[in-house]
Amino acid sequence: MSHSPVETVFSMLNETSAALQDARAASFLEALADSGENWFLGEINQDIDEVLKKRLVKLYEDHPLEKFEKEEIRKAFQLAILKGMKEHIQPNHQMTPDSIAMVIGYLMDKFTQNDRELTLLDPALGTGNLVLAIMNQLRGKVAITHGVEIDEVLVRLAYVGANLTEQPLHLYNQDSLEPLFIDPADVVVSDLPVGYYPNDVRAADYELQAKEGHSYAHHLFIEQSIKHVKEGGYLFFLVPNGLFESPLAGELHEYLQKTVHIQGLLKLPTSLFKNEQSAKSILILQRQHEDVKPPKQVLLAELPKLSNAQAMQTMMAKIQHWMDTDKA
Ligand code: SAM
Repeated sequence: MSHSPVETVFSMLNETSAALQDARAASFLEALADSGENWFLGEINQDIDEVLKKRLVKLYEDHPLEKFEKEEIRKAFQLAILKGMKEHIQPNHQMTPDSIAMVIGYLMDKFTQNDRELTLLDPALGTGNLVLAIMNQLRGKVAITHGVEIDEVLVRLAYVGANLTEQPLHLYNQDSLEPLFIDPADVVVSDLPVGYYPNDVRAADYELQAKEGHSYAHHLFIEQSIKHVKEGGYLFFLVPNGLFESPLAGELHEYLQKTVHIQGLLKLPTSLFKNEQSAKSILILQRQHEDVKPPKQVLLAELPKLSNAQAMQTMMAKIQHWMDTDKA
């Protein structure tokens, strides 16, 4: 039976990572980062026995990197990450699925149709899947992405993913709510971590700090992102559906009113999520600038099931119509 290129690359990454995991008593995700790096560098830098080394070299040589498309490699790498994530599930570390990345990429392309080149910032980079999928989709329009992530293993995976798909990704392994030494980006895109931010001292630097108790990380992330996008630049966030219904929604809304123009809120189909509570929307903002007018009408929509091609076509036509009337 013949396998698709994605299956072929996945099997190779899976086999090499499982072997490295055993030999080094590491987690599957750590071993996957090692294996991906070996494949990219064409050499093995781990301290392992010669028999295993030979076996790995043969597997990498049988799968020359240049034989595969960027999207085939990204998808295979993503499948291997998903397998590793099943080992220890951390709800706030979940990778952004391709289907959502594709919709955000489509919207970003539309909203920035007059730009030839973009710099991106993702302050919750995770594995990098969201930005790498968008960068592949936008084919060279993204000149560089700055990605910030607190978890070291995820940063390594993002680094390997960017190398394997030859995408320009600049990495910062730090807390994104600490000062960021990054020039303002043209666009911010992020699947925000949702929940409380434990560091009250740091939170005190933010206008959206909660008056009592811990602040919402996702609110602070929105404020930090607005500060790090150029005036007139767009922000695309994946946010919980209830963002504007929480007890602290009033403060958030007030802050947004004075810093950005809310462009759109698109509810994703619940079928993409485990349950109603974890369902999300895409929030689109534009940082205020003296030359930028607010939209005549905010783009509000419920996206249909992405598998329903006809309903998706109708939705895209609706979005296009909104763009034509609002951004003309
Ligand atoms: N888009 C990512 C992807 O495709 O893999 C997934 C993002 S995930 C929903 C949110 C990420 O935010 C997690 O990887 C988590 O480690 C990171 N994170 C949470 N708090 C953070 C902080 N204070 N600074 C930087 N990263 C943080």
